[in-house]
Amino acid sequence: MKTFHNPHHALHQGRHEMFRGRLVACHEVPARLDHVRAELQRRALGSLHEPAIDDAALDAAIARVHDPRYVAFLAHAWDEWVALDPSNAQRDALPSVWPLGNPHAFRRDRPPANFAARLGLYAFDAGTPLMAGTWTAARSGAACALAAARAVQDGQRAAFALTRPPGHHAGPDFFGGYCFLNNAAIAAQALRDAGRARVAVLDIDYHHGNGTQTLFYERADVLTVSLHGDPQTEYPFFLGYADERGAGPGEGFNLNLPLPRGTGFPAWRAALERAIRAVADFRADALVVPMGMDTFEGDPISGFLLRSADYTTVGRLLAELGLPTVFTFEGGYAVAEVGINTVNLLEGFWQAA
Ligand SMILES: [Zn+2]
Repeated sequence: MKTFHNPHHALHQGRHEMFRGRLVACHEVPARLDHVRAELQRRALGSLHEPAIDDAALDAAIARVHDPRYVAFLAHAWDEWVALDPSNAQRDALPSVWPLGNPHAFRRDRPPANFAARLGLYAFDAGTPLMAGTWTAARSGAACALAAARAVQDGQRAAFALTRPPGHHAGPDFFGGYCFLNNAAIAAQALRDAGRARVAVLDIDYHHGNGTQTLFYERADVLTVSLHGDPQTEYPFFLGYADERGAGPGEGFNLNLPLPRGTGFPAWRAALERAIRAVADFRADALVVPMGMDTFEGDPISGFLLRSADYTTVGRLLAELGLPTVFTFEGGYAVAEVGINTVNLLEGFWQAA
């Protein structure tokens, strides 16, 4: 198994996020990735690489998933934030005004010149700070996802995109949930473009993979499945219900398995087995797993009760599908344990593959 790690991830290091009404220190920190990389090295699981992707190929892969206006916004966001007020160089950019969804309430077709307003046009929360190195880090993360997809396409059974910021909450033209570019979607689309006819995305993060669902909602060639905390009580709240089944040609190709806060491994595993059956029934010929480790019982912002040893079982169950598999690193905020839990899953997969 090859792991592609993001050499620029630490350029994205937020100071604060708005969390349950308070400005708090960011949960999504560089140490998360460092713990995973150290544990991979300690157990000598597979090989570690930096992604080697040329700029044109990377831009093309990002453009297959994200809107060009949104990509241009991200590329220049920090410069515009500082131009708005030079003292902003000392602060992360966070939005504070949003144009709601109702087209009769606010227009979304006229991006304001004011950058603080445009920040709200593309963001869906105030928990996702943007800073000087965000674009470099996110873009390099997309390169990890593309490199992992290529490795699988070149015959590797599995590859891991070890990157942050994470990606599964990012949609065609929006960021939030600590995510800017949807790494899992970029990998899935790259596999499609390389000739895989049917690609399944099985999202096991605690939070619904809303960005990925939105990106593929009207498509029959990419099955999206997510098991996650019930949006009635859990972030991102406004998507992730069981009755979201896809639309148009994508009708029947989205499966949501929301579970109540407090769910332990037996019930979570039953949902995973149902998700795996859906992937098998779809006759997928490649699999992408947005791998969030915030289902762990010690996670500070989530509510499932999986234990470290359970992740080995999760890896084994995923391997039994027998598919070429790309893993992308998503959530997981119990920083001290995220390395052990992540590598338990990968090792379980590898031992059963
Ligand atoms: Zn999450």
